[in-house]
Amino acid sequence: MSDRATIDARPETRPDASIDGLAAELREAVESGLTRPREYRERQLDGLTAMLLQHTSRWEAALKADLGKGEIEAHLTEIGFLVAEARAAKRSLRRWMAPRPVAAPLALQPAVAKTLAQPLGAALIIAPWNYPLQLALAPLIGAIAAGCAAVVKPSEVAPATSALLAELAPQHLDPRSVRVVEGAVDETTALLEQRWDLIFYTGNAKIARVVAAAAAKHLTPTILELGGKSPAYVHRSADIPATARRLAWGKWINAGQTCVAPDHIRVDREIADELVEELRRATAEQLGDARTSPDYGRIVNGRHLERLTGLLGSGTVVTGGEVDEADRFMAPTILVGVDDASPVMQEEIFGPILPVLPVDGVDGFIETMRGAEKPLALYVFARDRDAVRRVERETSSGALGVNIAVAHVGAAGLPFGGVGESGSGAYHGKHSFDAFSHHRSVLSKPTAIDTLRVIYPPFSSWRGRL
Ligand code: NAD
Repeated sequence: MSDRATIDARPETRPDASIDGLAAELREAVESGLTRPREYRERQLDGLTAMLLQHTSRWEAALKADLGKGEIEAHLTEIGFLVAEARAAKRSLRRWMAPRPVAAPLALQPAVAKTLAQPLGAALIIAPWNYPLQLALAPLIGAIAAGCAAVVKPSEVAPATSALLAELAPQHLDPRSVRVVEGAVDETTALLEQRWDLIFYTGNAKIARVVAAAAAKHLTPTILELGGKSPAYVHRSADIPATARRLAWGKWINAGQTCVAPDHIRVDREIADELVEELRRATAEQLGDARTSPDYGRIVNGRHLERLTGLLGSGTVVTGGEVDEADRFMAPTILVGVDDASPVMQEEIFGPILPVLPVDGVDGFIETMRGAEKPLALYVFARDRDAVRRVERETSSGALGVNIAVAHVGAAGLPFGGVGESGSGAYHGKHSFDAFSHHRSVLSKPTAIDTLRVIYPPFSSWRGRL
């Protein structure tokens, strides 16, 4: 049976009655003080780490089943990534939770001003399928660190990872403050009807609008981690072989199903042929025969493979182009002769198809970004500092990679998130703690000397002096 058939044949699900009242129940857990102590949060972070490390081979198998992910990639981009985030959060928790002193203005002296991080409350985390473990648990690390309770709704499109998370989470995490709810539209809709204190959604911009509308009913804040067409621009001053290696790596990882993958390349016309040749070489070097490479993934399901296959006709295939439906395989494919009006340039590709389009210098590239939606990432490859500076200043995106693609995701000090159509809000490292916290302002002024007398009415002494 094809994956399409599997998906279409999925029985109509009815939201489990246990979904009812979940937000209120979890908020109560936070309000009771359960999640407040640092030691509790640390134990939960340890539980999350143990859930990953004690069942490594089962996570690997689930990621293999869902996305054909190789072991090393599974460690680099999911399991290892999360263990590092959870351990760093635990190490930093005391510092993150400490009140921050703020200088009180002279006019209010004597006074003490500070901010105090408090948990937002009950959070709903909705995850997508492409990094089904990382994108479900990385926000959860922030929620736990901040002292929130949370429901994690993994993606039904990655069913093996979703099922394993639902099985293991209750064994390693306190179910009073962390729940996993599996399901698709019905379940998510039932969850979205409830009043949450934060909704953290990762996925496409269309469903983000459904999420934002549901959140608006309760004035619930949202963090929206979305995607878009993240371009790479290669300037004529770039180191072409190194650029090609880095772009190939960033594009073919997870078979192109990465929100920050370079969607397409715009390259200075005079070096376009050379870049395409180097991309072809780098692809062969890194993956050899992709079909038998242990390091090359598969398309998540038949529906997406069909969608991607439909995009192959948007240009001339330089390398790749092979598709095997039974194996959900699509070869790493480089396309040239692509027109901006063609289907492959109308939507986020989200698969192993890499169009290379010539452009006339940095002016030409910047022109393509005018009026375009702001992408999640933008990459510039150049040794010419002016070219880099111009791209830095004259374009916008969630993140900018200079001579490197995708790797900014692993720099925990950098906030990870989009802008405009690619999302709002950010996380990773301390930013995850902040995302789930309310930084409460506290101003404290002793009453012993009432310096504020001067601003109490009657204002007769002020008249004529302003
Ligand atoms: P998806 O289909 O798994 O959907 C995401 C989540 O939305 C799932 O949990 C799903 O159950 C839920 N959902 C689907 N329909 C819904 C509905 N009608 N109402 C409520 N919830 C619903 O994943 P996707 O959207 O295909 O993910 C791919 C997109 O996500 C791409 O655009 C990609 O760029 C983006 N993405 C962004 C990031 C990031 O960190 N910014 C990371 C990964 C993916």
